[in-house]
Amino acid sequence: MGETVATNRIQVVRATAWRDAVIKILEPRSPYRPWRIPAGIKRGDAVLVVLETNPVSVIADIREVGVDGSALRALARFLDSGLPWREPPALLELATLRALTGFSLPDDGDPATVLGRAALTTAIGQRQAAPSGGDYLDGHTSLAAAAILLVSLGRCTGCGDKLGLAAADARDRLHIRSVDLAPSQRRVPVADDPPEEPRRLSQQGYGPDDIRIGVWRPGRFPTDWPAVLCDTCHGRMQHGGFDSFLRLRFSLHPPCPSCAAQWTMRTYAGFAAVLRSEPWMFHTGCCPRRIWVCAACGHEWGPSSDPEAG
Ligand SMILES: [Zn+2]
Ligand SMILES: [Zn+2]
Repeated sequence: MGETVATNRIQVVRATAWRDAVIKILEPRSPYRPWRIPAGIKRGDAVLVVLETNPVSVIADIREVGVDGSALRALARFLDSGLPWREPPALLELATLRALTGFSLPDDGDPATVLGRAALTTAIGQRQAAPSGGDYLDGHTSLAAAAILLVSLGRCTGCGDKLGLAAADARDRLHIRSVDLAPSQRRVPVADDPPEEPRRLSQQGYGPDDIRIGVWRPGRFPTDWPAVLCDTCHGRMQHGGFDSFLRLRFSLHPPCPSCAAQWTMRTYAGFAAVLRSEPWMFHTGCCPRRIWVCAACGHEWGPSSDPEAG
């Protein structure tokens, strides 16, 4: 956007220290200087960021150098989407981008490349349109670690506190917990299913019982969840005897007063730009309900989750 006239040049900015680079994206005030910026960048050039993760990845968001001609300023705007919420850019494996577009990295000494910028932008734009956040989060690669840190938006997945990314030692004070590949394929119920409800047999009836919604089905959660932890939550994890981050996360909610299970979800309601997929959050649709709901038995308690209701 703006008055800049786009050139047909794609400038590849590389970051060897991917952790520093993600921190810098999330917190432009960070003192880190992760970018290797090619000489000769001009207003209107596109900037494509390559992170030297394993496997090598690119940020699926092309930034355009503005009238100030500053690549650094263009790189500081990844989270300025113009939307009322902040959404992290997605990562894309370089090999995937190459397969989609034929794009190949120029040699290090030859940073500027002129090739189908439109095709590249389209491929990356389609990528952005896909639901973001859920890609590459599984597995123990540094690509997964970078993606986990990116979707954290700089907050601890445990307590929700800011990770203090502007600090000089930020890179040493965050703890990225990656998970085994595709934990979503191994979802386990947190409690036994209740007995089958007899009313379900008369779904075509007209009595008042027939419009009841079925009984509560216990939540089925992955065995673990990727996370970035602050020092405090990292310590909790180490000393609390938790066998997974998910257990730690649920331990931060009160246990169910009805069945004593430690699988309490916090509810949220209303318009949500991005429906949160975290197992410890529960979207109740348009209407606020009680703030806590037990994933094991369905018991709801506490004040309303409506923020305006206090
Ligand atoms: Zn924390
Ligand atoms: Zn319960």
